[in-house]
Amino acid sequence: MNEVRTRFAPSPTGYLHVGGVRAALFPWLVARHYNGKFILRIEDTDRAREVGGSVDIIKQSLEWLGILWDEGPGVGGAYGPYFQTQRTQYYHQWAMRLLDSGRAYADIRQPGELEQLRADAQTKHKPFLIRDYRPANPPSWKPGMPLRFKSEPQAYSWHDEIMGDLTAGKDAVDDFILLKSDGLPTYNFGHIVDDQEMHITHVIRGLEYIASMPKYLNLYEALGFNKPLFAHMPHIMGPDGKKKLSKRDGAKSVLDYKQEGFLPEAMVNFLALLGWNPGDGREMFSLDEMVDSFSLDRVQHSGARFDERRLIWMNGSYIRLLSLDELYDRCAQYWPVEAKGYDKTYKKQVLKLLQERLKYLSELPELSRSFFVDLPLNPKLISTHKQLAKYDNQSLKRLLETSLVDLKDCDFSVDKLNDRLNGLLAKTGEPPAVLFSLIRIATTQAQASPPLAESLAVIGKERTLKRIVRQIETL
Ligand code: GLU
Repeated sequence: MNEVRTRFAPSPTGYLHVGGVRAALFPWLVARHYNGKFILRIEDTDRAREVGGSVDIIKQSLEWLGILWDEGPGVGGAYGPYFQTQRTQYYHQWAMRLLDSGRAYADIRQPGELEQLRADAQTKHKPFLIRDYRPANPPSWKPGMPLRFKSEPQAYSWHDEIMGDLTAGKDAVDDFILLKSDGLPTYNFGHIVDDQEMHITHVIRGLEYIASMPKYLNLYEALGFNKPLFAHMPHIMGPDGKKKLSKRDGAKSVLDYKQEGFLPEAMVNFLALLGWNPGDGREMFSLDEMVDSFSLDRVQHSGARFDERRLIWMNGSYIRLLSLDELYDRCAQYWPVEAKGYDKTYKKQVLKLLQERLKYLSELPELSRSFFVDLPLNPKLISTHKQLAKYDNQSLKRLLETSLVDLKDCDFSVDKLNDRLNGLLAKTGEPPAVLFSLIRIATTQAQASPPLAESLAVIGKERTLKRIVRQIETL
């Protein structure tokens, strides 16, 4: 087989959401699987929709996830340039061939004209095909005029690497614009020329393009190009499973996930499973394992639902797999300001406790603050606590006083603390849900925390006792 060459061809219209990144990941996996090349091409011919800075954002998003391109912006390559607006000579050249062979015509109809014909056909319940209304005597084409493809209708059968064997009747083939009046190609024309010039072997893209396949096949033939393999990926549906995930409905940028402390390896793993599974029930993969097992014929046909809770779960699982040193390194930017001045050893003790609970790294400030400072007392923690709310202040006070006495002469190692705390349960006759919750609230100002003895050992004896005294005083 020739070298496998796949591409990701985003338009620079803003940030990449998870759907956009998966459109890069699948072709990247195919390229890596076959030791081929992955190309990044920027389809920037729609100037009106362009959003400044998008290319950088796209590059940063891919780089963060390790979806690196072998050719494209910033990297170069033998088939550049990789921005469509810099490739006009190619489109022009192939457009002229079509014109010369009678497979294209200048279309200078007023914008409203075709719409009117379409509306008329609709009222008559007739299918509307532009090719039925070709201008009788088109002017000879000159730069500045739109150029339209002259199709040759026929039925098609073709294979899609994901969707299987497909067919379409003649009516799916129609004329379409190749070059716009600004001289730039439409997507329909530009991508076919580029895929040919860049020797792309697998066109892997979103399902929204599958309906246009008969038109594209007709154009491949008119141009005399060999057809690459085609694979149309299922849509990614929003959380309700009904609508396609979209920016309009709040789909976030992948860089927001980066900011929130999602790990790139978790994100990639999650994205790979949006529509694909290896068929053996595995859920967590390293990048290498994904590259190894990925195949287009195991991509599902139906839409894949984007479930952020699953991403959060997966991220937490990846956090737990990190060594303490790796976790420490990754947390560098997430510590709360209150952690300033604390050394690495202490912070690692804190992380060791939190590693089980962190779902993403930006939770760190909230979960760790009480290890660094005395937080202001929050009376709601007791009044809204399921068990503690039933106790009056005097009883709670007595419980804390008893605890204080026993903790005062306790060595603050985890084992000793566990013994002492269990002893306190026996002594007071209260269940952990009451006594430990109370001590936890007094010492961490939170209803939930890592195991109590471990937490107190890190907070230290002096601060623990001081915090209990402070709580007693307010009761
Ligand atoms: N520029 C198109 C888009 O952003 C690319 C589609 C393709 O991969 O061919 O959706």
